[in-house]
Amino acid sequence: MENQTPTDQEIQNFQPKCIGPEGRNVGRSIAVSATGFVLPCCWLDRPSSPMDEKVKTLFDESLHIDNNDTIDDIISAEPWQKFMRELIEKPEDSSPICLEMCTRDGSRYVKKL
Ligand code: SF4
Repeated sequence: MENQTPTDQEIQNFQPKCIGPEGRNVGRSIAVSATGFVLPCCWLDRPSSPMDEKVKTLFDESLHIDNNDTIDDIISAEPWQKFMRELIEKPEDSSPICLEMCTRDGSRYVKKL
């Protein structure tokens, strides 16, 4: 997947639904992909996701459900925590999927009726 640099407006409109104002996961539920990887939401479960520079960090074999005892072990692991942290700290580096799916009105990604 091609990673294009988002515009300032897109970054401003970016509001990750998996993270609430207090930093908790409130809007979206954790998902498990058909291939056995735990994801912050089902929107990241796309055939192209393992090729996405950002999302592919969640498809590391060390994070596969077969290689962990609990879901908590996976979501507390550094690659997972880093992905979540950087949605807030480095929104400009976010996956195009996240930028597409989690924008407020005003973004070019929001379909006009
Ligand atoms: S698309 Fe990305 S930012 Fe939006 S809820 Fe899913 S993981 Fe979070």
